[in-house]
Amino acid sequence: MPFDQYQRDIDYLRISLTDACNLRCVYCMPEQMTFRPRHELLSDDELRRLLAVFGRLGFRKIRFTGGEPTLRPGLVDLVRHAVATPGITAVGLTTNGVLLDQLARPLRDAGLQSVNISLDSLDEAKFRRLTRWGNLRDVQAGLAAALAAGFRVKLNAVVCRGVNDREDVVALAGLTRAQPLQVRFIEQMPFGNNVEFQTKGLVSEAELREVLVQAYGPLEPVNGGRLDGEARLYRLPGGAGWVGFISPVTAPFCAGCNRMRLTADGVLRLCLLRDHEMNLLVLLRSGRSDEAIAECIRRAVQEKPWGHGLAQHLIPAARGMSQIGG
Ligand code: SAM
Ligand code: SF4
Repeated sequence: MPFDQYQRDIDYLRISLTDACNLRCVYCMPEQMTFRPRHELLSDDELRRLLAVFGRLGFRKIRFTGGEPTLRPGLVDLVRHAVATPGITAVGLTTNGVLLDQLARPLRDAGLQSVNISLDSLDEAKFRRLTRWGNLRDVQAGLAAALAAGFRVKLNAVVCRGVNDREDVVALAGLTRAQPLQVRFIEQMPFGNNVEFQTKGLVSEAELREVLVQAYGPLEPVNGGRLDGEARLYRLPGGAGWVGFISPVTAPFCAGCNRMRLTADGVLRLCLLRDHEMNLLVLLRSGRSDEAIAECIRRAVQEKPWGHGLAQHLIPAARGMSQIGG
């Protein structure tokens, strides 16, 4: 198993399949975003080769993300391949859900285990305001298809001050009263492409908990308040599901971080919020051996920084969220 220098077991890789997207969420990218040409992205063959190397090194969990991963041609085959890769025991997907209505069943049949769907509001107009191009009904159809296909589904909402920080939070959390869903509220993180908006828009976990307590009564901590992955979970009084908070800004979870990210253009990113990167695409395309690539990954694990530097105002500048893979 790959342990880093702080004895964290780094066994989770998030793989971005494309930097392109069919939405333009206001906290993620500008409306006039441009994307990398196809030939600058990892090909399916290159991805398959890297998956085998990561599996051999002890990476157990894969999550495909983007940009919007459902835009990647051949997604279902890539999932099937990842599921069958020796060493890999869990494969998940993070998606905006727009295309999930058609894809949920084939993805399930390919062995995908879990789906995280981003959904910031249950109000059509607010959803459009936040995503710029999205139709709420598409995502609702995607969610229904994912549940019907038998996926474990988590909903992720990024909260923006003054837009979806009150009644939307109450309504989203309310979904967990009757359904065994996990709804997680994510604190907005700053990236070089959008720092001012993201910093001003931040709504802290503490504020959100207060909103929910006012609406529903005391929240019941799950797991004695310990983190479940990156989320701290609660139940609403009498609730069937879980409300989670992912709070990288006000309650960093770096001490338990077990992940690295592979960008769509083949760069290994050691921490979401630091610009330290290692370029695997160059190794692949210059004919280096699997062992040379494995050695680079081992070094990356060793060099993984302790944590992010947001408290010291160190903000990643090289890439925005959609170019890294959330
Ligand atoms: N397009 C897919 C989606 O939206 O789920 C996958 C990629 S998206 C970059 C992954 C996650 O990052 C989404 O849940 C999104 O809401 C979140 N995200 C984007 N920009 C963010 C920011 N500045 N701070 C916090 N989360 C952000
Ligand atoms: Fe696209 Fe996801 Fe970014 Fe929204 S958050 S613009 S859906 S990549």
